[in-house]
Amino acid sequence: MAILDKKSSQHSIDLENKYGAHNYHPLPVVLSKGEGVYVWDVEGKKYYDFLSAYSAVNQGHCHPKIVGAMTAQAQQLTLTSRAFYNDQLGVYEQFVTSYFGFDKILPMNTGAEAVETALKICRKWAYEKKGIPENEAQIIVCNNNFHGRTTTIISFSNDPVARANFGPYTEGFIKIEYDNLQALATALETHDTIAGFLVEPIQGEAGVYVPSDTYLKEAKALCEKHNVLFIADEVQTGIARTGRLLATCGNCSCPEKNCSGTPDVKPDILILGKALSGGAYPVSGVLANDPIMEVIRPGNHGSTFGGNPVAAAVAIAALEVVRDEQLAVNAAVLGELFRAELAAYIETSSIVSLVRGKGLLNAIVINDHEESETAWNICVALKENGLLAKPTHGNIIRFAPPLVMTKEELLDCVRIITDTLQQFEP
Ligand SMILES: *Cc1c(COP(=O)(O)O)cnc(C)c1O
Repeated sequence: MAILDKKSSQHSIDLENKYGAHNYHPLPVVLSKGEGVYVWDVEGKKYYDFLSAYSAVNQGHCHPKIVGAMTAQAQQLTLTSRAFYNDQLGVYEQFVTSYFGFDKILPMNTGAEAVETALKICRKWAYEKKGIPENEAQIIVCNNNFHGRTTTIISFSNDPVARANFGPYTEGFIKIEYDNLQALATALETHDTIAGFLVEPIQGEAGVYVPSDTYLKEAKALCEKHNVLFIADEVQTGIARTGRLLATCGNCSCPEKNCSGTPDVKPDILILGKALSGGAYPVSGVLANDPIMEVIRPGNHGSTFGGNPVAAAVAIAALEVVRDEQLAVNAAVLGELFRAELAAYIETSSIVSLVRGKGLLNAIVINDHEESETAWNICVALKENGLLAKPTHGNIIRFAPPLVMTKEELLDCVRIITDTLQQFEP
């Protein structure tokens, strides 16, 4: 009986509710196994994963190459701290910098830590290289951004749920409208103490907002003109998710060549996390060239676990999978197909108003007011029908499956999604 009890979903949910802080509102499904594009709940029911742990599992669940690298390294050496060298970190640093085309990386663990790291590097660069007077550096950010959950990061969020009652807030940030070049130009012209511009190439959490085609390129040009660092937060959009190795890349076909050749927009500081480990382990990092990264000296920044040997081995394997399995191309091709199929459905739908996205980072907008339960109820019905997705903001549902999906599987998922949406049509 005890064994059966342990297996029931309700038991696991009750335990989390009783003993865990209520900082999330999960869909009522309890998962115990994953493989590729599939996950299984404790009762053995199989689902397509259409969230991929917010795009951390781009390489698919429990990829054998990544898990293999992780277990092999875990049996050798797991942690030394950076008080000593380890034989994996340098190898990884050489690999990852040549993969993305930067001089150096500063390794961390979570996305929020990497964002914090980028902000610190940017400020220090501003004082030591740009010559901004002490404590006056400003960093421009965008409305409706999502960069993580630390006190500094939520200081420049405008999501009341993320912010309220967590003050006092960190100073030094200027908020402008996303996808608005004039707003950026005005901010750059009005203040002479701007150090950086922090931006998501696509606003994922906000509801998969894709900016206009030339936005990033022109924003980068404006930053160059004002000697301001362009900081790309590609924690969610990076590593093949949007059909390119990075969302800031142009039309380079990254998986064959790597993207260091012809990036459309080359960020001064690139922030990566999530899929950097394929979801196997918390691995994040900040990449920049020497003239910027050299402002960081011993004692300025660090992390006990950042750059540990397991993280290093896992990240190399995870990036090799992206390249060897051509996941960027697959995401580009399947993304086109997904949006075309959904757009065809939407033509005759009154419950869904539009589909948008790039590669396999997509969302549908439900035709109902922000506070309605419809998107949540659709996600619960999708779950019943064997596909897991989650609403982002109110009436928007994000669809982001692992990038190892096949065309047949994607079409099967489109059928599940459209059949489910059909149940909600008036
Ligand atoms: C998820 C995310 C983060 C934060 O990453 P954590 O690992 O959850 O701290 C930062 N920026 C973006 C764009 C993200 O999607």
